[in-house]
Amino acid sequence: MPHASPLVVILVAALGLAFVLGTIANRLRISPIVGYVLAGIAIGPFTPGYVADSGLTLQLADIGVILLMFGVGLHFSPSDLLSVRAIVLPGAILQVILSTGLGAAAAWLFGWPLPSMIVFGVALSIASTVVVTRALQERRLVESERGRIAVGWLVVQDLITVVVLVLLPTIAGALHGGPSPAIDAGGLAAPLAITFGKLAAFFLVMWVVGRRVIPWMLHYVAHTGSRELFRLAVLSVALGVAYIAAELFGVSIALGAFFGGMILSESQLSRRAAEESLPLRDAFAVLFFVSVGMLFNPMVITAAPLRLIGTAAVVLAGTGVAAFALLSILRVQTAAALFVAAGLTQIGEFSFVLVNLGIDLKLLPGQSRDLVLGASILSILINPVMLAAAQRWSRRLEPPAQAASPPPEALLPTNLTGHAVVVGYGRVGRLVADGLRHDGVPVLVIEDAADALEQLRAQGIEALSGNAADERLLRAAKLPAARVLFVAIPEAFEAGQIVQQARRANPSIDIVARAHFDAEVGHLKNMGANAVIMGEREIAAAMLTHARAAHPV
Ligand code: AMP
Repeated sequence: MPHASPLVVILVAALGLAFVLGTIANRLRISPIVGYVLAGIAIGPFTPGYVADSGLTLQLADIGVILLMFGVGLHFSPSDLLSVRAIVLPGAILQVILSTGLGAAAAWLFGWPLPSMIVFGVALSIASTVVVTRALQERRLVESERGRIAVGWLVVQDLITVVVLVLLPTIAGALHGGPSPAIDAGGLAAPLAITFGKLAAFFLVMWVVGRRVIPWMLHYVAHTGSRELFRLAVLSVALGVAYIAAELFGVSIALGAFFGGMILSESQLSRRAAEESLPLRDAFAVLFFVSVGMLFNPMVITAAPLRLIGTAAVVLAGTGVAAFALLSILRVQTAAALFVAAGLTQIGEFSFVLVNLGIDLKLLPGQSRDLVLGASILSILINPVMLAAAQRWSRRLEPPAQAASPPPEALLPTNLTGHAVVVGYGRVGRLVADGLRHDGVPVLVIEDAADALEQLRAQGIEALSGNAADERLLRAAKLPAARVLFVAIPEAFEAGQIVQQARRANPSIDIVARAHFDAEVGHLKNMGANAVIMGEREIAAAMLTHARAAHPV
């Protein structure tokens, strides 16, 4: 009987268990990441039962890292990156130095020698790109000011890691009494010059060749009209650029993918490219968390509990406080500084690579791997809580002038009655809200994109921030007191959930929803919508009206 290949078994076990445990976590109102990591521990080598191949899982997780960073790059133009350089260059470099110092101090307390102290410190100073970018994308903050700072910060940290990884073998050779017993400047200068030369060559090739060839290729494929080919093109670009960056130029795959996305960000196809890579990105990013769980040996909790707590404290408190202090000194608004600092209080993939290399080079004791992994898991699990706390705290810090009119992020119930609730302030919702306001109807908007929320705030329109499928938001919108609900978002599955909850909250409210396919019209009506407007039908009707008026028969 033919057997499923190991890769298929891993995908089934890892994705399936992550799905089940993630759903349970979601139900318990904790971050689904907890479920993913637990799934990893369950199928890892340190717990009984089925053991998945962690090497393969890690390789699959790499695809998640590439697609995540590519997606972030798509929303990021080179000028966005340059606009935050005055903050992120000094900020990230100083934060890495401070966190390294704290990590080294912890290692000193463990009684480790100087080289171990330094490598351990660096490993604790670099945040996981996956965790930060996922948090930003989940909250649709990539294009906000705090998103730009966080991503710029990650890019600088990533560059530092590339340099450290290159220099470490040379330093280790010198320390272990290699060809030159002391680390002389000349010995380090050569690998350093080669690394910077390769980085510069990569940027140059991307700028001169990539910036022309890649958008041209995607435009060409888009005009073939084949969705399948377009998807393939997007995937080939994301994975191909990351691979070339790593193989030929010694740049990390994450950074390579980020630049691959960034050179496309100015192309009109970037939005479509982002949408096409979304489902794969999400699935593979989940595998990253599963693979972290698989590597973790829970025995470290009982074997060295104090050391584990110390290591985690450096990441959670040390980096958090250092980053927040630096951001404040660099005059970043307190709310943004809190969010970025909270986002950085975790470690992941880079730390694992660094620790493994340190152990191979005999610069670190074997226990450091377990400590770094343990601290990584703890910090990744605590990170969503830190981010939520940062957001709550920053709301309280809003200047009193704005407190009079509630900031859009606040979850305070509205005081409006007889109002219209508009979900989504995009191409459709914006026109609906404008028309209603013109007619003098009080309007409340629910929106989850940061840029749209900023515009709402600028126009003085009352808004609730977040996903409208969240029942707390619908409650704050006081549907029982509202007269009509417009669900003006393009995604029918999410719209269906919103309609269903709204109908439950107010059996008599008039609900108008938006759809793009006949099947969606039926679905939304079943969920309780009074009227469903299908965009394509309206477009067709308007086209016919135009043609009849222009060419009467
Ligand atoms: P458009 O397709 O241009 O009309 O844009 C749709 C708008 O709805 C965007 O601004 C999205 O950020 C927003 N949006 C989409 N889904 C949700 C949701 N579940 N809750 C709140 N806002 C949403």
